[in-house]
Amino acid sequence: MAKSPEQEHPVKAFGWAARDSSGHLSPFDFSRRTTGENDVTFKVQYCGICHSDLHNIRNEWGGADYPMVPGHEILGVVTEVGNKVTKFKVGDKVGVGAIIGACRSCESCAQSLENYCPSMILTYNTKDREGSTTYGGYSDIMVTDEHYAVAIPDNLPLDGAAPLLCAGITVYSPLKNYGLDRPGLHVGVVGLGGLGHVAVKFAKAMGLKVTVISTSPSKKEEAVDRLGADLFLVSNDPEQMQSAMGTVDIIIDTVSAVHALLPLVELLRSRGKLIMVGAPQRPLELPIMPLLFGGKIVAGSCAGGLTELQEMINFASEHNITSDIEVIPMDYVNTAMERLAKGDVRYRFVIDIKNTLKPAA
Ligand SMILES: [Zn+2]
Ligand SMILES: [Zn+2]
Repeated sequence: MAKSPEQEHPVKAFGWAARDSSGHLSPFDFSRRTTGENDVTFKVQYCGICHSDLHNIRNEWGGADYPMVPGHEILGVVTEVGNKVTKFKVGDKVGVGAIIGACRSCESCAQSLENYCPSMILTYNTKDREGSTTYGGYSDIMVTDEHYAVAIPDNLPLDGAAPLLCAGITVYSPLKNYGLDRPGLHVGVVGLGGLGHVAVKFAKAMGLKVTVISTSPSKKEEAVDRLGADLFLVSNDPEQMQSAMGTVDIIIDTVSAVHALLPLVELLRSRGKLIMVGAPQRPLELPIMPLLFGGKIVAGSCAGGLTELQEMINFASEHNITSDIEVIPMDYVNTAMERLAKGDVRYRFVIDIKNTLKPAA
C-alpha cells in the first residue's frame, strides 16, 4: 500500500495544499527525503505565486495530482548539504525554479536545456524518480539535487528576487536565445503583467529599444514613466499599431488569453520573430501569408535551463533587477489567488513563508 504523504519520507514538512479542483489551499502535513549526497536542503523564506500555480491548483491544464503543494519561485537559506555538494554551504541563499530533475544524458540536457528534457521533473505536481509526488515551495523546507538550485547574490532582496526564478527566466531566455541581447535592437513586449514588466526591465538593461503593447491605455504611464519603456501601443487601436508597422525585431508575447496574432506579426520587420511565452488554453489563429511575405518566424519558449537560470540571476544582480511585488502572509493565499485570477496584482504576489507559515497548533 502506498504510504501517506506524512510517512513517505523521514523528514517532517509542512505547507499549504489544494485538495481538489476548487483550488482552495489549506494547511498540510507531509514529508521530504533526507539530504542525499548531492542534495541541498533549505528553509524556504519566500515563494512567488506564479500564474501557473493558479491554473494547476484548479486543474485547468489537466493532470492535477492532489493534494498539491504549489510554488516554483522559491528562495531560502541552506540548512544542510550532502557530502558531494560543491556549489553551496550552510547559510547560503539559494533559489529553485520550475525544475528539480532531468535525465542529465539527453541532447537537451547536454546543452543545459534541462527545461526541454523529455524526462524533466517539475518542482511540484509530478512524480520524482522514486515515484513520490513532488511538492513545491508553499512549504517550510525544500530538498533538491544541487544541480537544480541557483546561488542568489547578496544584493538581491529575497522577496523581490523570488519571481525571477520563473517569470524572470521565462522572458530572459528568449531575449538571449533569439539573439536580442544586442543593444539597439527593438523589442516588443505584449502584456504588462508578472512576465511583461520583468521583460521590460531585462530588455532595458540589455540596451534595447522597448515597446510595450497592451490592451489597457491606462498602463501607458506605468510602462513609459516608471518602467522606462520607449514606446507604448494600445493593441486594439489600429492607428497606433499601424504607426509602428514593420519596426520591431522581436516580440515577446506574454499573454495567456486568446488574442489576435496578425496585428503583432505586422509590427515585425522582415525576418522578425514573434516569441510566445504565455500559454493560452485554446489554439490561436495564425495567419500564414504575412509570415511568408515577411520571412517571419513564430516560436515558443518555456522557462530556461539551469546554466541560464544562474546567468539570469547574475544579470539581475548586476543590474539590480527584481520583480515588483506585493508580499502577503500565508493565510492570505486564497484571496491572492482570487485577485490573481482577475489580474489584480502589481505584479507578483510573494508569500512571506519565513514569518507567516505557521504549523497548526
Ligand atoms: Zn511559473
Ligand atoms: Zn534530459
